[in-house]
Amino acid sequence: MNYVRGLQCRECRAAYPVSPRAICEECFGPLEVTYDYEALRRESGPGSIVARGRSMWRYRELLPVEGAEILGLEVGYTPLVRATRLAERLGVDNLFIKNDAVNFPTLSFKDRVVSVALTKAREFGMTTVGCASTGNLANAVAAQGVRHGFDTCVLVPEDLEAAKIVGTTVYGARLVGVRGDYDQVNRLCSQIADRFGWGIVNVNLRPFYGEGSKTVGFEIAEQSGWKRPANLVCCMAGGSLLTKIGKAFDELALLGWIEGPKTKLYGAQATGCNPIVTAVKDGTGEIRPVKARTIARSLAIGNPADGHYAARAIKESGGWAEDVTDAEMVDGIRLLAETEGIFTETAGGVTVAAARKLIASGRIPRDQTTVLVITGNGLKTTDALASTAPVYPVIEPRLDAFERAIECTGRVSPGVPPSSGRIREDVLLSSGRSAPAAPLSSGRAL
Ligand SMILES: *Cc1c(COP(=O)(O)O)cnc(C)c1O
Ligand SMILES: [Zn+2]
Repeated sequence: MNYVRGLQCRECRAAYPVSPRAICEECFGPLEVTYDYEALRRESGPGSIVARGRSMWRYRELLPVEGAEILGLEVGYTPLVRATRLAERLGVDNLFIKNDAVNFPTLSFKDRVVSVALTKAREFGMTTVGCASTGNLANAVAAQGVRHGFDTCVLVPEDLEAAKIVGTTVYGARLVGVRGDYDQVNRLCSQIADRFGWGIVNVNLRPFYGEGSKTVGFEIAEQSGWKRPANLVCCMAGGSLLTKIGKAFDELALLGWIEGPKTKLYGAQATGCNPIVTAVKDGTGEIRPVKARTIARSLAIGNPADGHYAARAIKESGGWAEDVTDAEMVDGIRLLAETEGIFTETAGGVTVAAARKLIASGRIPRDQTTVLVITGNGLKTTDALASTAPVYPVIEPRLDAFERAIECTGRVSPGVPPSSGRIREDVLLSSGRSAPAAPLSSGRAL
């Protein structure tokens, strides 16, 4: 049941045994996990996994684990939901949301990568784990690290959102703020991994960590009836998630689990930190690092480790990339909430706003199926909406005060005499809503 072959350099193809390392000693290229696809093709198939538990670990043959113990057996298998109302607003026929805003346990897709990385840390006999994080990874390492009995040490840029700080320290994890940006935190973490031998999930455990992101692609394919969508939009920080979703679809096609044309990958970033989008648009695929200036803190990586590979995956798929301003991002958060009842963080706002632009410009055809990958939860970045805080009435606890209040918010037409405790149908109609589908006596809530 173990199909892992080893590690291989993505550039010079030098092979390494499975071990906590991420960089090729020959050429400094990134290392990647390789599998025995021949054996996988012979011995596995969709039929063998459908009866398994609903988590990302139902695809364990395609994940880089070798031991029996898996940490985070409940992570993943988030909903893929049809987004009819958002589709209407964006002017497309078939739109779906992959909703990792409700992932377990810390409400972002980072729960997946951490589950794999900690499983490997345990296999390697490590007792301390950590990460360099823009916020969500810190939450995921803290929660799962503590739960599985590791000492945890998380490093972040000092000026993160309050909810992401509290969402790390609440677990009792050690947190260190660094005066510097993410790229400086990451460099420090490389030195820490060398000095202390800790398992830094996105540094020396990075090849395994990255494989966890493939499960987003596996789930989308399975939840679509073992098909891949024509188009997929995903936000990018280091560029790993988008690259790995592409790898996931490629693997399933190679194994014969899915058929049909390649998914076009569309990458999204904030205009204030858009090195990968720039590399796609200028056609070079070469990353020129930037200084990040955006409220999308979870995407604020100026020198993305997998940026070059993400740009290449986008180009080879026939997709494109787009960036959006902070204001467009906030509009994207609102649009998703108002249409689909899904509250995403700034990163998800980037995805929705970029999708809107890509559809408007004709890059994403209106008649094809498109999946938006929503990666994180809006309750962690409520500050992003502070400048457009809602105005709402505050009243004395009396019915007449309530009636005045709803008149002035314009939800119910003024002058309707209150006849009973029930809101009459003509009131509902005049407020612009449709009449109830069932008689009031049926007990439906209005
Ligand atoms: C980390 C993160 C991303 C981007 O992940 P990469 O693999 O670094 O590109 C996207 N969305 C959210 C919410 C994240 O926390
Ligand atoms: Zn190499």
